[in-house]
Amino acid sequence: MTIFIHADNRFEQSEPVSRECPHCGAHAQLLPVSTPAFDAMHAYRPHHVGIAYRCAACAQPRFVRVAVRAYEKSHIELSSNLIEVERGRERFQFSYLPPDVERIFRETLQCYSAGCYNAFASMCRRTIRTCLADVGADAKLRWHDLFRDVVAIGKLDDSMARTLESILFGNDAALPELHAGEAAVLIETIKDMVYQSYIRTAKLRAALKMRRFFADEQDSKVTTIGSRVLRAESA
Ligand SMILES: [Zn+2]
Repeated sequence: MTIFIHADNRFEQSEPVSRECPHCGAHAQLLPVSTPAFDAMHAYRPHHVGIAYRCAACAQPRFVRVAVRAYEKSHIELSSNLIEVERGRERFQFSYLPPDVERIFRETLQCYSAGCYNAFASMCRRTIRTCLADVGADAKLRWHDLFRDVVAIGKLDDSMARTLESILFGNDAALPELHAGEAAVLIETIKDMVYQSYIRTAKLRAALKMRRFFADEQDSKVTTIGSRVLRAESA
């Protein structure tokens, strides 16, 4: 793909670009809204410029930073590598969480979205501690089981499993330093554990309650009809 800004300020992008939108979650096209001015760029000759697009699905602004490849008399060529300024937010069904767990877990996911992986690791340990304080310390074994499930299902190797275990369940020992690859595994691990512990439990209980309610209602209707039949026969 090539991007040019022509001397008459015309913006030319050789092919459309689609990205996942941090606002609506759709994989939608980026439509240029505000593009750099040719004269201003030639006057200041910056190495990078900003372009404002809008999301074709939800119309929210999408800001992009891009390197300048070449300044020519008739046009300026920009790099095809569009670097998004806003990162996508991690999604989660927070409404199922108790308020104190929700507050800490939201911040945990925000640390990941911001690329602050070591802050994210510290917040993962704090999330587990907040969850344990919420459900009682005897739940620690259950949380360990949830973690072992992820290790088994995700086929994590021993070294990764040890790193994640010491982050999540370590005592006051220093946390191991975390890189992008390990953080990517950790975020899926902690999201699954919190999901299993709160959301699966709440949904299952609600579904069982609903099934029992309708089953009881059905039973009571059958009894009523049966007693009417009996009354009709005896009359
Ligand atoms: Zn959107």
